[in-house]
Order: sequence, then C-alpha cells, then structure tokens
Amino acid sequence: MLPDLERLIHLQDLDLKAAAAQRTVAAAPERIAALDAKLAAARAGVDDAKAAIAQNQATRRSADKDILAAQQRLEKYKEQSMAVKTNTEFHAMQQQMAAVKAEIDRFESQILEIMMGADELAAQLKAAEARLKADEASVVAERKTIETERDAQAAIAKTCAADRATIVGQMNRGVVSTFEKVASQRGGIGLARAEKERCVVCQVRLRPMVYSAVKRNDEIVQCDSCQRILYYVPPTAADTAAQPAAPSTQS
Ligand SMILES: [Zn+2]
Repeated sequence: MLPDLERLIHLQDLDLKAAAAQRTVAAAPERIAALDAKLAAARAGVDDAKAAIAQNQATRRSADKDILAAQQRLEKYKEQSMAVKTNTEFHAMQQQMAAVKAEIDRFESQILEIMMGADELAAQLKAAEARLKADEASVVAERKTIETERDAQAAIAKTCAADRATIVGQMNRGVVSTFEKVASQRGGIGLARAEKERCVVCQVRLRPMVYSAVKRNDEIVQCDSCQRILYYVPPTAADTAAQPAAPSTQS
C-alpha cells in the first residue's frame, strides 16, 4: 500500500477520535450548568417552603391578635351588661355580645386551619430539604464524573493532535490538503474504503477503472461522487463475510 494511504487511514482514525474527544470537552460546561440549575431549583424549593411557613406564621400572629381583641371586647361587654338599667339596653348588649362570640368562633376555626396548614408546610419544607441534600450529593458526584471525563478527553485530543502533526510531517502536502478539504466538507471523513465496487461511505458504485486503481492501493484515487480518497482492504481467509476491516485495525 502507498505509505501515504496507510498514513491517511491512521490520520482519519486520529481525527475521528479527536473530534469525539473535543465534543465531550465542549459539552462539559453545558452539562455542569445543568447540574447547577438542578441545584438552584432544589434551593429555590427550600426557600419557597420557608417563605410559605413565614407567611403562615404571620397570618397566625395576626389571627391571634384579632381573637385576643375580640375576647377583650367580650369581657368589656360583660362588665357593661352588669351595669345596664333597662331591658332594652340589656338586649342590645346581649346582641353585641353574641356578635363578638360569633367573631371569636370564626377566628378559632381560622386559627385551626392555619395550624393544619403549618403542619403541611412543615412537611413540605422537610421534603424540600431532603431533596436538596440528595441533589447536593448527586451533583457533586456527577460534576466530578463530568470533569474527570472532560480532562481525560482533553488529554486524548492533545495526544491526537501531536500524533497527527507527526504523521502529517511525513506526508505529501498535496495529499494532506486534499484529505483535509474533503473531510471539512464531508462531516470530518475524507477517506473511504472501497468494497464490492462501491465507496463504502457514500455507497455510490465506482467505475471499473476507478475500482481497479483503488484495489492497487498505490495512488491517491478519489470517489467520483463524494470525493473521498479511496483505499482497498483485500479480504483475508478469516475475513469471509462478517468482518469488514475497519480503519482502526490497520494502524
Ligand atoms: Zn464516495
């Protein structure tokens, strides 16, 4: 095989590996931001629950004040009713006292509702705090996993770049630029295996003359359709039907 073709196979392999590594590195900030958002939502859940409890307590204080005032008013009416002189006055006083008693009843049932609400809110706060605690633990672990993965892939990308520079340094510049040009236009893949008279990547049938040139593996031949540089892997004895030789097995 033409040495540059072998190098191209290696190069294609490195480029795909580097691209995958770079995608992982590039995706890391967004993944970490999503974890931060999850944590922020859990914290907001706790804050909301606390705010609801504060609101409940304020309503309770206000109701306590109202009921106390009504009770004091009732006491005053009771004292006044002792001093009344006429039946009419007495009845009027009775009516006022009944109204205040009804008011006190309303406040009592309101306070009961507030108390039941307080129990519910306390349970909600407890659940929100538990969720936050669990999220904090899982976010720390997930962030560490993402960062470890990112650093490992960044190291792989760096190694790929160094290896690439070495290989490119050994190659014909024209071959490299043809490969890079096609790769940049064709989803990062500038090289294609030919098999059964077809370009394996674009699946277009090759002209017989082109295919026989490709089979010799001794020159740079491009696919008429996708322009990728073609190479050929002769079938081996073990390579009967199922095992198409991938570029990675060649390097
Ligand atoms: Zn093709």
